[in-house]
Amino acid sequence: MAVNGSAKQVEHQVSDLDASKLKVNLSETLKEIPPPETLTFGQTMTDHMLISTFHPSTGWSDPEIKSYGPLSLDPASSCFQYSTNVFEGMKAYIGPDGKPRLFRPTLNMARMTRSAGRVALPPFDTDELLKLIKKLVQLESRWIPRTKGYSLYVRPTIIGSRATLSVGPSDHAILYVICSPTGPYFRTGHKPVSLLAVDEHVRSWPGGTGGYKLALNYAPTLMPQQLAAKLGYDQCLWLLGEDKRVTEVGAMNFFVVVKRDDGDLDVITPPLDGTILPGVTRDSTLALVAAHPSRTVLPNLPASTKLYAREHQLTMHELAELAQQDRLLEAFGVGTAAVVAGVGRIGFQGKDINLPPHESGLGPIGRALYDRIVDIQEGKFEWEGWSVVCDLE
Ligand SMILES: *Cc1c(COP(=O)(O)O)cnc(C)c1O
Repeated sequence: MAVNGSAKQVEHQVSDLDASKLKVNLSETLKEIPPPETLTFGQTMTDHMLISTFHPSTGWSDPEIKSYGPLSLDPASSCFQYSTNVFEGMKAYIGPDGKPRLFRPTLNMARMTRSAGRVALPPFDTDELLKLIKKLVQLESRWIPRTKGYSLYVRPTIIGSRATLSVGPSDHAILYVICSPTGPYFRTGHKPVSLLAVDEHVRSWPGGTGGYKLALNYAPTLMPQQLAAKLGYDQCLWLLGEDKRVTEVGAMNFFVVVKRDDGDLDVITPPLDGTILPGVTRDSTLALVAAHPSRTVLPNLPASTKLYAREHQLTMHELAELAQQDRLLEAFGVGTAAVVAGVGRIGFQGKDINLPPHESGLGPIGRALYDRIVDIQEGKFEWEGWSVVCDLE
């Protein structure tokens, strides 16, 4: 009993992540910032990174902000052998007040700890990680281009660093956050993407890990993506099951706009049944659609346009039928990287379903959502505290 009790106590005494223990060791020489228009997504890294390591007997180490650079890892590390890796994707923007801001960051923090738990990586205090990310973003704010549509992509990551080939939970881990300045996903206006609906390879399945942001979900999507590209399509539309349910597009959540019998519009996305990544942009899209027109009127949409936010399982058969009846008005993917990406056509069983073309690449609903979400992110439109200023103390 006593032994058990004290063992438990030791377990509870390991340190949690603690932002007040942060050590900042700034680089002596800073990198030259490339002109924004030359940026390619994810290529350029900022000067610094945040890092903390987890040891089973001491817990999370004092976090450190230091020069961006390589990690040194044992080749037997769990992350290499058994894919104990989780990540997040968020963006920091410069507001009209010149201060950096994050978009609904507590949702990313909550999702990250859920993802870590799914692959048995150690938990961490999400409020502390958010404080640390705000600090890092403040320090790196010179990297955030001041131009509309530009931002700093922030990539929090946890990897399992237990060095043994035996399969088991990684009781050692490294948490780090890196940042990359990024431009608008579509440089020359919104070009609609073409999708190949894929059912012989699946991205996720019931009881699987599709609802978590785990690195292991992405490697199996790369080969089908190559096949789609070979056939002339930009992205895969991931299907699932005999009834060919539509799940996600590439690494974005999928939405369609459908004309209802009463003339109003349904804005539909598949429900979070465990096979769908619970996207922050997805949640924001549903909330803004539900708020129109009673609580806010979306840009350039008449208040007389009634929108219904619906979480509903869509099948390819249903999509094809809606298109045939001219009721499928828009389709788009949503996610942090592109915000809203319009879909132009969907290849399925050798035929294309064509969406009505729009001059700007996005239909009126997709465009309204894009404009409103970006305005909230950049601090130009205040909405429900979604944009969080990186102001410490
Ligand atoms: C990250 C991601 C999304 C989008 O999530 P956001 O929080 O909106 O960026 C959608 N689907 C997949 C598979 C993803 O990895």
